[in-house]
Amino acid sequence: MIRIAIQSKGRLNEESLALLQSIGIDVDAPKRKLLSKSQNFPIEALYLRDDDIPQVVAGGTASLGIVGLNEVEEKGADVDIVARLGFGTCRLSLAIPKGEDYDGPDWFSGRRIATSYPVILRKYLAEKQIDAKIEVITGSVEIGPAIGIADAIFDIVSSGSTLIANGLKEVESVFESEAVLIARKGLGEEERTLLDDLLFRIESETISRGKKYLMMNLPKASLDEAIRILPAMRSPTVMPLASTDWCSLHSVINAADLWTKVRQLKAIGAEGILVMDVDKIIL
Ligand code: ATP
Ligand code: MG
Repeated sequence: MIRIAIQSKGRLNEESLALLQSIGIDVDAPKRKLLSKSQNFPIEALYLRDDDIPQVVAGGTASLGIVGLNEVEEKGADVDIVARLGFGTCRLSLAIPKGEDYDGPDWFSGRRIATSYPVILRKYLAEKQIDAKIEVITGSVEIGPAIGIADAIFDIVSSGSTLIANGLKEVESVFESEAVLIARKGLGEEERTLLDDLLFRIESETISRGKKYLMMNLPKASLDEAIRILPAMRSPTVMPLASTDWCSLHSVINAADLWTKVRQLKAIGAEGILVMDVDKIIL
């Protein structure tokens, strides 16, 4: 049995549970229960505030955890980062009132910066040799300048719309974050085996995310061109058709490239293009 710490509510909760579900692990969502055992994998979820997850894993109360890399860095937790999970992507940035002229990080010298991430900010300021005052506040950092407790903020940004809504502009992006799977150092043998199984499943899940399976009929004369357009995992699958001048071509592509590729394939004579979702890719 291995215990995994998961955010009980908040931005990472749903996607953490969705990830477990997508790799075939059912755990009950946190209602009033702090702990929930899976029915189909020897794992138990421990639901916590995200701030507590790095230490709980470092201290061994849970052996694994899903948390933002920003929290791991801020808490300086001595844990292994065993997988990047590709969700909860955001950055920690410095932002200043939008009317201010900005000509580089020296702007912050002698200013007050409000943040919930003093450790990461202090490190950045030290690297840039900037002497600024850090005002630690735990929530609603973005209103700091408007209410006069700070000249600038250092906070999480994803789309930037919160900054704009508060009359701020992002001037330095300092730390890139995403949800990560962390593990306690020195896992026992049984836990290591369970973790390896989880990592194998997560990898196939991560690889298949955002992929589409393409099938089409193609004049054989266009095959070389099509293979150049579709660099598949090894090479695209080509199958003969009853009509000898044509073949059927199958390949996996990134969903983001779909329409560009389809247009290129149409231009070299592809017909009957079928696009399908990919559930799992197991390498
Ligand atoms: P808790 O109550 O668990 O302490 P919280 O309010 O501190 O929650 P959330 O806002 O739920 O934290 O954010 C959790 C994590 O999600 C952050 O530490 C960060 O890694 C990521 N995150 C935060 N804001 C965003 C965002 N706008 N877009 C994407 N990811 C984000
Ligand atoms: Mg928190």
